[in-house]
Amino acid sequence: MKNLAVLGATGSIGDSTLSVCRHNPDLYNVQFLYAASNVEKMHSLCIEFKPKYVALSNTKAALALSSLLNESQLDCQIIPEHEVLALLGSDEVDSVMAAIVGAAGLKTTLASIYAGKEIFLANKESLVMSGALLIDAVNQHGATLWPVDSEHNAIFQSMSPTLQNEIGRCDLEANGVSKILLTGSGGPFLDKPLDEFDAISPEMAIKHPNWSMGPKISIDSATMMNKGLEYIEARWLFNTKKDQLQVIIHPQSVIHSMVQYQDGSVISQMGNPDMRIPIAHVMGDNSRIKSGAKPFDFFATDSFTFLEPDYKRYPCLKLAIQTCYEGQNSTTILNAANEIAVQAFLEKKIKFTQISNIVDSVLNQLTYPAASSIEALLEIDKIARSTAFNIIHRGEF
Ligand code: NAD
Ligand code: MG
Repeated sequence: MKNLAVLGATGSIGDSTLSVCRHNPDLYNVQFLYAASNVEKMHSLCIEFKPKYVALSNTKAALALSSLLNESQLDCQIIPEHEVLALLGSDEVDSVMAAIVGAAGLKTTLASIYAGKEIFLANKESLVMSGALLIDAVNQHGATLWPVDSEHNAIFQSMSPTLQNEIGRCDLEANGVSKILLTGSGGPFLDKPLDEFDAISPEMAIKHPNWSMGPKISIDSATMMNKGLEYIEARWLFNTKKDQLQVIIHPQSVIHSMVQYQDGSVISQMGNPDMRIPIAHVMGDNSRIKSGAKPFDFFATDSFTFLEPDYKRYPCLKLAIQTCYEGQNSTTILNAANEIAVQAFLEKKIKFTQISNIVDSVLNQLTYPAASSIEALLEIDKIARSTAFNIIHRGEF
């Protein structure tokens, strides 16, 4: 039985993780639940899972949760935010589901890595931000990094054990891999006429045709920035060169990604679009445990189709692929500017089409020498956020 910390416990990945825990009560003890501010949901999770520790990053919410826990006489210790990193580094935690959304997840992901834990990585933004530094830390501290993102998990499942053991430093060529094919649905606007893009509302963008996810990743899926972030994520997880990684649109979201080998074989992982499948795969230690997902019905599905991405429709995808080869600073800036622009779009301060303009402007305004520490990257992240914020505030996009 492993002690599990679920970071981002009240979110969409948190839901799926805890659902997998319900299906496998003998595998994991839910030891620590952490989220931002959803008091009611955290309280009901505490009633159900009885974690030893719980924390909310929002101080007011933490106080409210504390009195609810007292009222319900739950033996669950609420810890202040500044003690979270130490808890993750302690012997009380074996495995960590890193599912906080955005760059806010970086510190907890890194603390878990520095403590040599088993990390289930859903928080792709932390890898996009810190790339080589994060991978180096995994190797240096003997941590185990499992890809949770459905595409990266599918790629992992389609690889040989040798490559699976070399996460972050795979030698693809030596293991016969010619290309990694990263699939994406194309989101809700795959067929929408381009001249209607200006009128896209957050409500329209958030409705993903296949996946049910949190608001930020749903908007990223509509712009395909999500696939761009995943491109960068794949570059680091699988140590790809430019010609070894390609994005393919597959609107049905059944093939979750593929690995093409030099002998012509293509190996893929398929299934319903349900995050409990990759989560069960990593939590089951690369074996097959119950996930609660429905089995895929081949007779109830349309044909499978594949398309090349059109960058006029998905300028964010193009920006992300470009920055991937410009270096760590650029991907940190891209990620930070995107988080601010997506938030502004969700708050109806900017149009859907302006998300990419803002990210592009921030990338053009900021140039830095290569950052060699996490502190330097966090500083760049901060500056990129304020630059994006100012661009939006002054309407300069
Ligand atoms: P979500 O918005 O549903 O949930 C986010 C969670 O993070 C919430 O529990 C929230 O309280 C918590 N959180 C936010 N800021 C925090 C902070 N400062 N401190 C502590 N907790 C904080 O998001 P999601 O869809 O579950 O996505 C989570 C991560 O997983 C993202 O990085 C996303 O890209 C990745 N991911 C999600 C999916 C999916 O299907 N939802 C698939 C692949 C990868
Ligand atoms: Mg994904």
